[in-house]
Amino acid sequence: MYRTHTCGELRIANAGSEVTLAGWVQTVRKFGSITFVDLRDRYGITQMLFNESLNSRLDETPLGREYVIQVKGKVVERSNKNSKIPTGDVEVEVMDFAIMNMASTPPFTIEEETDGGDELRMKYRYLDLRRPTLRRNLELRYKVNRSVRNYLDTQGFWDIETPFLIKSTPEGARDFVVPSRMNEGQFYALPQSPQTFKQLLMVSGYDKYYQIVKCFRDEDLRADRQPEFTQIDCEMSFVEQEDILQTFEGLFKHVFRDVKGVEITEAFPRMTWDDAMWHYGNDKPDIRFGMKLKNLKAEGRVHAEVLNAVDFKVFAEAETILAIAVPGAGEYTRKQLDELTEWVKRPQIGMTGVVNVKCNTDGTYKSSVDKFFNEQQLNDLAAFCGANAGDLILILAGKETRTRKAMSELRLEMGNRLGLRNPDDYKPLWVIDFPLFEHDEEENRWVARHHPFTSPKPEQIEWMGNPDKYKEIKANAYDIVLNGTEIGGGSIRIFQRDLQEKMFAALGMDKEEAQEKFGFLLGAFEYGAPPHGGIAFGFDRLCALLGGQETIRDFIAFPKNNAGRDVMLDAPSAIDDKQLDELQLIQKKA
Ligand code: ASP
Repeated sequence: MYRTHTCGELRIANAGSEVTLAGWVQTVRKFGSITFVDLRDRYGITQMLFNESLNSRLDETPLGREYVIQVKGKVVERSNKNSKIPTGDVEVEVMDFAIMNMASTPPFTIEEETDGGDELRMKYRYLDLRRPTLRRNLELRYKVNRSVRNYLDTQGFWDIETPFLIKSTPEGARDFVVPSRMNEGQFYALPQSPQTFKQLLMVSGYDKYYQIVKCFRDEDLRADRQPEFTQIDCEMSFVEQEDILQTFEGLFKHVFRDVKGVEITEAFPRMTWDDAMWHYGNDKPDIRFGMKLKNLKAEGRVHAEVLNAVDFKVFAEAETILAIAVPGAGEYTRKQLDELTEWVKRPQIGMTGVVNVKCNTDGTYKSSVDKFFNEQQLNDLAAFCGANAGDLILILAGKETRTRKAMSELRLEMGNRLGLRNPDDYKPLWVIDFPLFEHDEEENRWVARHHPFTSPKPEQIEWMGNPDKYKEIKANAYDIVLNGTEIGGGSIRIFQRDLQEKMFAALGMDKEEAQEKFGFLLGAFEYGAPPHGGIAFGFDRLCALLGGQETIRDFIAFPKNNAGRDVMLDAPSAIDDKQLDELQLIQKKA
């Protein structure tokens, strides 16, 4: 037997017993004639005490960091207890030990806070994974996985696997492709998600399906994306949007309770996409704090009276003017305000400046546009913005899309600065009634906002085929948003062949192309397809959020770096000529 206990197990109650432990040497500390060794495994750390009698053996083969050793000894109470670790009341007085494997000096320290840079840690990921931080992350991931499965099991869902070698199903990203040796000149695609398969399973009558499954998308890796990532993918038949929202709200409540001990009793708020864009400037609002956007001027919406009376060119010419009232920031210094101006000028934000109005506690105002506004006008402006004495009003003006985006970022930034975005405060919500289409300006065509299988609102189906109406058509689609991050989304699907064909046509696909790409699905819809709908959640992201961290990479055992590379494997890599020949591939020379 290699061990009787783990390195995280021994307590004062074990004092007196003889034990065998095995693990990795974390540290070796020599004090005169005695040596302390911290022994580590997945479960924790236990202190070993090597007495004088073992010195000659230690001298012969000194123990190094990360050696794998087995230790036999007696558990004793420590005189100098360590309250920071669960085993800190005891130590093991070593009677005998064996070195099971030596180790080279690791390239970085294997501790909570390490000195290794990102690349180095990725290269030696198997060592990085020994660090308690990552170990805790993977433990959390496992617990979330188990909790999700338990809940879905109680609800009658079946986990059904779907293939990875498939035909391309567009979900807005590029496919990874795999050449087929046996079918010369032909390629499989890796699934961007199991979307069409789960719909086919509904046609087969498996009315509650789920899978915790890898998805592959060949996207430019914007911050914190992975080319392969994991979804909790679900589909149900004979359901309306309400059934789906209820079922998966239940899932979230269950997971929060199970994994975090957090009880969310109230129903998740629901916000239409229009409202989210209007009040928060984006479709994944962080509702942990207010500071809603006030639209001083926007196409087709009310104008604040006050602006019409003011002779200020910047405002007069702007397509959109948005304001927020930042609570309690009326004391901002000149320096802080200048710094905010620099912040909005950064290329990611792209504004030329920010107008500020300080609402002084004595009821007066101080603003960067004092020249153009009189006191009464500033007062009206403050009233329109819902600003109180002591608040700071920030205003951005410019082109609609950019200004909205910039204001939504500025709002989040101010939320950060004011400490209003506490990661332990979980505020989930549903965003509903998304537009069905989005206009791709570059290609000048309509694309599906969610994906081409999403159904329009029933009362708007008649508009399909009339592009003038596409901007207005809303989908039976929904996202779940947690603390400003979208963690899942789905829709009620189209399940009739003719409507699906209309959808493909609206997206600019002619009959032949639709048949060639999606003949299997259109065909299936002719054999009794039930009404159905579903949702998928970003599992990596959910774990990161529950772990109170931002990067999904730290919640994936073997992730890729920002360039999509696995630096440990050194992949992707070239393949040899023999392999290329077998696959009938010729590489284009640069
Ligand atoms: N397949 C969709 C996605 O990956 C989710 C869904 O509609 O269920 O976003």
